[in-house]
Amino acid sequence: MPDSTTTLADLRTTVAAFVAARDWSQFHNAKDLAVSICIEAAELLEEFQWHDAAQVTAASNDPEARERARLELADVLVYCLCLGNALEIDVSQAVQDKLAIADRKYPPEAYRGRARKPGQIQELRPVRYARTGRLAPPCRTPRSRPCRASSRPSSEPASAADGWRRPGRRW
Ligand SMILES: [Mg+2]
Repeated sequence: MPDSTTTLADLRTTVAAFVAARDWSQFHNAKDLAVSICIEAAELLEEFQWHDAAQVTAASNDPEARERARLELADVLVYCLCLGNALEIDVSQAVQDKLAIADRKYPPEAYRGRARKPGQIQELRPVRYARTGRLAPPCRTPRSRPCRASSRPSSEPASAADGWRRPGRRW
């Protein structure tokens, strides 16, 4: 059943039959299915835990690691379909509706090639730890206070005491 010939309805029916054969629908409430999606997503994430960018690339090309990730991805999707079945959600329509919302929220002309809002920290270069060579986690910046490179002209005073108020800081 490859993607090219399998519909979402086919998968939903297959998953529903699997659940019905085991009389598991009694356990499939929205909360527990949402929890299960998160647990399986965490298992997928575990495949890449502690990996830097190079190690993620290597894992993505390793047949055994790819197989583990493939099956965890399937776990996530199966529980998503179970939740769709339990709540009688038209998943295809939901995905299209959500993409339409995202299209308005992230217009291509403003977000092409960007992972963050314009003005946020993506322009900063990745930092590596000197001792291990691993990538440092990105700077965590509240959305309301974007981290920016200083735009202070060299002729401006350098501190609050001198009258300079750093962007986004409360004094
Ligand atoms: Mg799993």
